[in-house]
Amino acid sequence: MTPLADRFGRVATDLRVSLTDRCNLRCHYCMPAEGLAWLPREEVLTDDEVVRLVRIAVEQLGVTEVRFTGGEPLLRKGLVDIVGRTKALRPSPEVSLTTNGLGLQRIATALADAGLDRVNVSLDTIRADTFAEITRRERLPDVVAGLAAAQRAGLAPVKVNAVLLRGVNDDQAPELLGWCLERGYQLRIIEQMPLDAQGEWRRDDMVTAEEILASLGSAYDLTPSPRPRGSAPAQEYVVDGGPATVGVIASVTRPFCGDCDRVRLTADGQIRNCLFAREESDLRAALRGGADDEEIARRWTAAVAGKLPGHGINDPSFLQPDRPMSAIGG
Ligand code: SAM
Repeated sequence: MTPLADRFGRVATDLRVSLTDRCNLRCHYCMPAEGLAWLPREEVLTDDEVVRLVRIAVEQLGVTEVRFTGGEPLLRKGLVDIVGRTKALRPSPEVSLTTNGLGLQRIATALADAGLDRVNVSLDTIRADTFAEITRRERLPDVVAGLAAAQRAGLAPVKVNAVLLRGVNDDQAPELLGWCLERGYQLRIIEQMPLDAQGEWRRDDMVTAEEILASLGSAYDLTPSPRPRGSAPAQEYVVDGGPATVGVIASVTRPFCGDCDRVRLTADGQIRNCLFAREESDLRAALRGGADDEEIARRWTAAVAGKLPGHGINDPSFLQPDRPMSAIGG
């Protein structure tokens, strides 16, 4: 086994796999109303190709956690089968999913039966009008039903990921937290990152972790969780004495790159050693060119070895990556 180590002593054990770049929402901080130029079908890895790469990562490269994302991973027809085959690998990895929740109501039990351990559902508001404003779709009831189905299916802990947007939902954090607490969902609020397709992100517009905490703190008593954070992106806070917690992911104002243990595989088979990487390593070409497992593992190890010490968002020379979040896999 060769660990995915970089020059700064970090070891990648958490693999994020994008299963499609397509999405059925149009969150305006992510992509334009008309969507994006989706990857041609032949460029997207097949189910067998995805499972082969995940197997190499688990069996040969020390990956212990696999998270399927996108785009919207529930749009991937073979999802349940991919999850089942991933969970059946040895040593069996933790398998989770990041989804917008549309359609989760129908498939949550099948996913749990296939071995899915956990789910993160993205939900920025519980107000129907704000949901429609952000996502350009009137689908809030579907997401709410999807969350409930995930919980019934035992995909615990059910986490809710939210992004706050100034002047849109930045006054709704306490309301969203209250709603999650009532249902036993773990809320995590994420700082908006420069990963939108339109390149419209502005630091001044971003709702900072400090503001998020001030807003939540106006309604709840928050104390930093005594649990060690490790490589988790979220800083956890105990709410009103516990046991419930809320997480804040301050990727921009309090970067946690030094503890990063993640590596990404895009839907078209490119390895990215960072969300903000400007270079990728083409495993699809290797796969389709007949490379054996050892060669693929070698390329993968080399791709991670070159990981930079940090994402550089706060450097004056920072350049947004060419791919938006939806095409990388959030
Ligand atoms: N479609 C799935 C979903 O909605 O969870 C998975 C992909 S989506 C890109 C993953 C997460 O990225 C969502 O929670 C979304 O809110 C978040 N996201 C998208 N653009 C972002 C940005 N610029 N900064 C921070 N988070 C972003």
